[in-house]
Amino acid sequence: MKIAVAKGDGIGPEIMDAVLSIFNANKVPLEYEIVEMGKWVFDKGFNNGMTPEAKQTIESLGLLFKGPMETPKGKGVKSINVTARKTWNTYANKRDFQTLHGVDTVFSKAGIPINITVVRENIEDTYGGIEHMLTHDVALSRRFITRPGSMQVIRYAFEMARQKNAKRITCGHKANIMKITDGLFLECFYEVAKEYPDLKADDIIVDDLCMKLVTRPDLFDVVVLTNLQGDIVSDLCAGLVGGLGFAPSANIGDHISIFEAVHGTAPDIAGKNIANPTALLLSGLAMLRHVGLTENAAIIENALLYTLESGVHTGDFGDKSKASVNTTEFANAIINNF
Ligand code: NAD
Repeated sequence: MKIAVAKGDGIGPEIMDAVLSIFNANKVPLEYEIVEMGKWVFDKGFNNGMTPEAKQTIESLGLLFKGPMETPKGKGVKSINVTARKTWNTYANKRDFQTLHGVDTVFSKAGIPINITVVRENIEDTYGGIEHMLTHDVALSRRFITRPGSMQVIRYAFEMARQKNAKRITCGHKANIMKITDGLFLECFYEVAKEYPDLKADDIIVDDLCMKLVTRPDLFDVVVLTNLQGDIVSDLCAGLVGGLGFAPSANIGDHISIFEAVHGTAPDIAGKNIANPTALLLSGLAMLRHVGLTENAAIIENALLYTLESGVHTGDFGDKSKASVNTTEFANAIINNF
């Protein structure tokens, strides 16, 4: 099976090479077609950040494994990440956050396990970028929430919760204030919930959700939210399990899916071979499971967990009194633990 790979900008090529070296060492039966996508493609004059050949390849292969990408600053240039999600209607953004042994957090130290999946609607809400100055002093932004858009992401969340053997699925919202938009999302949530009587479905106001997530994260299982609230809550959850270096993400659509880390291009450490490839590796493992390569995913995941547990770490986390390893050495340590 062939998939499209875009290495990305900044630390992207370093962490992608590390992850592909792990896949190759494990003889993962995938072929990779490298596509031209990223800031350097904008610089070549393609104003959506990808060449027509890249777009065609991704559309014919249906799967993109992607490094982080930078959007050039300036008016009129849309984020390549948002463009990709919209172009291919990847309507659900799924992010799994779990306790990783060897990655110390306040919760792991207190023996509180975390296994939360956040499903964020990925296309609608304020991300249409429809905003303008009404007067010199008043800025206006429009927010779109549709019934079909809400139904498809909520249905995905319920299906995924059932596959995960989740006990509880929670809708985060602000329907007490945004009664029509978030009200519609919440209405769709309970409409879909009727089809899944085996799952305990409930809802919570998003500010209360944030407070409970940082005090009792173990109470949550699957959480589904609209786009902007989901964006904020998922970064909060990344913090619960050790930070952005451990946060994978999958953008799921009916025809094309994109797997990438939550973090960005980390320009401050790019080119130094010190970035943590774990988030991209976890995203890659979700991709392997998505295409049915569960055995390869399990072997690599066990090696990753063993490596983390044995104290091998890149400089961004772990016991600071112990020496850290670079990106390549971290990947090699995982390979040695197969
Ligand atoms: P960032 O995630 O790139 O960096 C935030 C901090 O986390 C930095 O200190 C960085 O060094 C650190 N960090 C991030 N990933 C790391 C890793 N794997 N290992 C070790 N440390 C890591 O966020 P930013 O600085 O706000 O954004 C930089 C650029 O990335 C921007 O151009 C932004 O648009 C882009 N971005 C892209 C994506 C994407 O492609 N999906 C997502 C977010 C940001």
